[in-house]
Amino acid sequence: MDPPLVTRFAPSPTGYLHLGHAFSALTAWQRARAAGGQFLLRIEDIDIRRCKPQFEAAIIEDLAWLGVDRDGPVRRQSDHFADYGAVLHRLREMGVVYPCFCTRADIAREIAAAQSAPHGPDGPLYPGICRHLTPDERRARLEEGREFALRLDVGRATAIVGSYRFHEERLGWIEGQPHLYGDVVIARKDTPTSYHLAVTHDDHLQGITLVTRGEDLLPATHVHALLQKLLGYETPRYAHHRLLADAQGRRFAKRDQSLTLRVLRQAGASPQEVRRRVGFD
Ligand code: GLU
Repeated sequence: MDPPLVTRFAPSPTGYLHLGHAFSALTAWQRARAAGGQFLLRIEDIDIRRCKPQFEAAIIEDLAWLGVDRDGPVRRQSDHFADYGAVLHRLREMGVVYPCFCTRADIAREIAAAQSAPHGPDGPLYPGICRHLTPDERRARLEEGREFALRLDVGRATAIVGSYRFHEERLGWIEGQPHLYGDVVIARKDTPTSYHLAVTHDDHLQGITLVTRGEDLLPATHVHALLQKLLGYETPRYAHHRLLADAQGRRFAKRDQSLTLRVLRQAGASPQEVRRRVGFD
């Protein structure tokens, strides 16, 4: 028998929920409810400069208004930096992370000087400057008190993990491409984790069996599945949904505040109308 379905909605509280979020939340919620499973809410607020408590409160209120009820407590990532620290420690022990002292300018300079710079889904990949530091150079920078991020040494990680794959509902089994994003940041200079690390750990910890999220995050799943294999976590199943667009065909974005659930509600829309508008009756 299949394990019970556990899905989640994992917004970052950097603004009010808009119709695109409503679609995403309802997608996960409906899957859980249809299967008699669980729907969890996670607040992804590791970027403590951009995330605001009032947006978190608004997310919780707006979901309740929309009729999206949740199971279990809300997990707020900023309450769990120590958990991510412990996972980082494991990765360090495995020898698959290295400190990166580069500034954005250092990286841009190196890329500009390179003959050909490999690109990933979000632009040029990190050219590996700090991966090539000698132990002495690394020590010297640490002793100088230079700030650093931690990056995943994808080559080493791949050597440990070998091949891996994940299941995407529309696309079937997908062979993992560990180098797609290059040596990703696993802990930022200002935050003791990163999106990739926190989301992978939390999906595991919360027993998520089906990750539903926008198709813009499909490439990131290659990184998450790699981390899962490295950490000995089960890989959940994935269902990446299309991104809802506005009447002009543009994707909803946080900067576009006109179609937030708040504004629609203040203008007199009912939860049923909003649900219908994004395709849920
Ligand atoms: N926190 C991410 C966002 O708001 C979603 C991450 C995920 O669902 O994996 O875009």
